Amino acid sequence: MAEVVVSNIVKSFGKVAVLKDVSVAIADGEMLVVLGPSGCGKSTLLRIIAGLETASAGDVMIGGRRVNDLEPAERDIAMVFQNYALYPHMTVRQNMAYGLKNLGTAKAVIEKRVAEAAQILGLAELLDRKPRQLSGGQRQRVAMGRAIVREPEAFLFDEPLSNLDAKLRVQMRHEIKQLQSRLGTTGIFVTHDQVEAMTLGDRLLVLNQGVVEQVDTPIAVYARPASLFVAGFIGSPAMNVLDGTIDGDGATVSCGGARLLLEHPLPGAGGREVRVGIRPEHLVAGDSGTSPPGAGLDAEIEWVELLGADTVAHGRLADGQALALRRPGDRPVAAGDRFHLTPAPAHLHLFDPATGRRIE
Ligand code: ADP
Ligand code: MG
Repeated sequence: MAEVVVSNIVKSFGKVAVLKDVSVAIADGEMLVVLGPSGCGKSTLLRIIAGLETASAGDVMIGGRRVNDLEPAERDIAMVFQNYALYPHMTVRQNMAYGLKNLGTAKAVIEKRVAEAAQILGLAELLDRKPRQLSGGQRQRVAMGRAIVREPEAFLFDEPLSNLDAKLRVQMRHEIKQLQSRLGTTGIFVTHDQVEAMTLGDRLLVLNQGVVEQVDTPIAVYARPASLFVAGFIGSPAMNVLDGTIDGDGATVSCGGARLLLEHPLPGAGGREVRVGIRPEHLVAGDSGTSPPGAGLDAEIEWVELLGADTVAHGRLADGQALALRRPGDRPVAAGDRFHLTPAPAHLHLFDPATGRRIE
């Protein structure tokens, strides 16, 4: 077990900068999820930590040891990939033992570790099967087993659940979470799936085009997104973002034809243009008493998505800006309905239009 520290990592392929000064410290035993859209540099970052790729600049430390110049096998980490990479001609037992055998580990030690890992993963009955005789979930467990038997300092996961169907994915992410915390092994888990990230991570690192947007707990990333990118990437349906202007006294923001009370006044900011973020689930209908009298957003619904548990209603404000609101599925909403919406001040997020960064 070990702390993993990534410092000022830069990576370019030719002229293309893929990682731009990425730094993060992952505590011993912590699970960090790296979340971002396809192509943002997640796999490249993981491969640099694993030693499968060389950084253009920056350092990787594992357990206090600078590993930049060490081969992957010398770094004491185990990687689990999306496509499992199991050897089809080998049994489960042989697949799990293969890495240790290559390292020259004593036969008795290999047998003991494979038996223990099989026990932990519920694979004990399947040790003599070939991968093609296993279900997707079982194959994923074998890939995990192969990582566990190495007793590594850290697990690196590159979208290991992407090939599984939705139901199995939920089960496997629960299993991975339990396993990682039970073993207490530091983990770095890469995914583009926000639900996977929210449920698996002790903390999230949100990556956008090679730049770290935010590193924080899942709840903090949801409640206080550090940038417009994070605000739009986390949450479903996505956060509404409206154009607004801070009013003269700095206590309210004018947007969508309404004046909304700010949680924390911004004295001296009168006249400043901002982007105002409000999540669809925080657009409360009716008068919550938290805005100045009569000062809510007036929206007319244009179309509705019935999702069963929830209804997402898409509408337009008096000034023409679009917005979505989420309502419980048992409350009927239809096109043409009008709502007077008074979101709580704590649910307004302000961002700088130029930099996209959160305004505190
Ligand atoms: P992610 O895992 O987030 O989808 P990757 O780290 O795989 O993203 O890729 C990030 C970017 O770097 C992509 O634009 C990809 O095309 C590019 N890239 C990755 N590996 C190479 C490579 N070996 N040579 C050139 N470009 C690469
Ligand atoms: Mg990838």
